[in-house]
Formats: sequence, C-alpha cells, structure tokens
Amino acid sequence: PNLAIGIDIGGTKVAAGVVDEQGTVLAELRRQTPGRDPRAVEATIVELVSELGRAYRIASVGIGAAGWMDLSGSTVLFSPHLAWRNEPLRSNLERLLCRPVMLTNDADAAAWAEWRFGAGRGESRLVCITLGTGIGGAMLMDGRIERGQFGVAGEFGHQVIMPGGHRCECGNRGCWEQYASGNALGREARELARAKSPVAQEILRAVDGDVEAITGAVITELARQGDPASIELIDDVGGWLGLGMANLAAALDPGMFVVGGGLCEAGELLLEPARRAFGRNLTGRGFRPAAPIALAALGPRAGLIGAADLSRNPPR
Ligand code: BGC
Ligand code: ZN
Repeated sequence: PNLAIGIDIGGTKVAAGVVDEQGTVLAELRRQTPGRDPRAVEATIVELVSELGRAYRIASVGIGAAGWMDLSGSTVLFSPHLAWRNEPLRSNLERLLCRPVMLTNDADAAAWAEWRFGAGRGESRLVCITLGTGIGGAMLMDGRIERGQFGVAGEFGHQVIMPGGHRCECGNRGCWEQYASGNALGREARELARAKSPVAQEILRAVDGDVEAITGAVITELARQGDPASIELIDDVGGWLGLGMANLAAALDPGMFVVGGGLCEAGELLLEPARRAFGRNLTGRGFRPAAPIALAALGPRAGLIGAADLSRNPPR
C-alpha cells in the first residue's frame, strides 16, 4: 500500500499520522507546537517522522503548516502564530529527512481532505474554514486549490471585520480570527471570568479558579455539558463566524462551506448561530441560493490526512 505521513502544524498543536490511499489514519501522534523557534519545530517534525516510520513503510511525507507559503511550496513567507519569516522550510526538512517533502498551508490541506474524503466530497466550489488558534481558509475549484497569484490566497482569517478592534498577531486590528477562532473564544471567556460575573461560576470551577487556564477547548467541553455561560460564549463566536461567511459568500459564491478545526468539536452549538448570522447577513438574501454550511467530517484530523494525501497527489 502507498502509505504517507501527514503532519499538521498549527499554532498550538502538531498532529502527525500515517495515512493510506483511502484517507484512513493508521497511526497518529500529537505534540504541543514547540515555542517560537523554527529549529525546534523542525526537530519535532523529524522526531515524529522517524517514530511513525519505524512501524510502517512510508512512500512520502506531506506537511500542512499554519503559514503563508510561496507559490512553489518551498518557503514560508510569514506566519502570524509561528516564528517563520521567509523560512526555507521545505529544503530544511528535505535535508534533515533525506527525502522529498510536500509543503502547503494547513487549511489548504484540510480542505483537500474534506473534498476527497469528507463533507465536501466532489463539491465543485468548496470553501473550507478551520477554527483553531486562528482561522484558516481555502477555496477549491473542481478539486484545485486556489492559491492566488503569490500563493497566499484564502487568508480569510485576516479580513478586517471590526476596524480598530482587537490587535491580531498579523499586526492589524480587528481581523476575523480575533472574533471567531478558538483563541477568540478563550479570550472572551477569560474576560468574562475576570469580570467576576456570577454567570462565570461553572467556568471558574472547572479550572480551580485559574483564569489563565481557561481556553477555547475548556469552554467547548463545558458547553457540551450544558453550562449556559459557555453556550452563550460559543453562540457569540458563531455569530461572528456566520457574519464572516456571509462576506465570503458575497465575494466567492461557493456551493458549500465546510467548517473544521478544533473548535468544530462544539458542533451544532457553534453552527446553529453561525447559520443564523449567515442568513441575516447574506447579501441579496431571499433572491439568491444560500450555500449550505456543514461540519468537517474528518474533524481535527483533516489537516494531517490532507497533507499526507497531497504528498501523493501534488497540488496542481
Ligand atoms: C494563518 C493561516 C492559517 C490559519 C490556521 C492564520 O492565522 O494566517 O495561514 O492557515 O491561521 O492555522
Ligand atoms: Zn490578522
């Protein structure tokens, strides 16, 4: 079998797996993304590849990373959440691993996986959004990833949705990912807890009073257990999500949206308010078709599955 290793490097986590040609994950490893040192990230990748390679015969390696790749897929031009600045990541890794490496953006990889094996299978105009540390974006036209003139298309997370709003790691203010990502959910929850609001009681109890320990994942878990404040916080994030998607529909007119990333663990608690806000903000509503909004079928594994598969089917 033609087995590939896929590695998804996000702002918080690195996920790696051995993936077969049907998109099935045969083995998986996870690590925290190491600090802000590009060399440490490379070392983690080497470690993961050699660990996974011990039990399987690997034909290729693909990386989906949270960064802005140049068109040739060799250099990370910039990354808001990681330390890459004009980093020749592909050649560094090829030297360390002694084999060719496919390098692409993490959200492009996730979108590819959802198009081939998941919720957007065969969709001719698919927009995929991943919600985690930031917001990743990708558009696939007939199975081709639209990468723009310079390789950096699909950076939907950095559309300015609130002029003068929260400062973003990209340097601007008011980016969409400051309002509709897992990080945004965590920040809003910490603010609520710091305000000593009585509604934050359950949240504070869950972290033994340690406000800094409140993350998007903590809130998602509490919401699923029925905590009303956490449900409200996710509802707010869903509202921002739907608004941004309405903007995307105005620009791109996709046939379908697929929403993935860690925050999609919130499921309908997130998608229901997102659909509501989308419907309320869609331009020309009532007189145009509205694209359906679906959850990623491959969940948080979409990125690694897509990276592995793209190493077998290089992006066109
Ligand atoms: C980055 C994207 C990345 C996304 C998800 C954003 O902040 O600009 O390149 O795909 O986060 O990791
Ligand atoms: Zn930004």
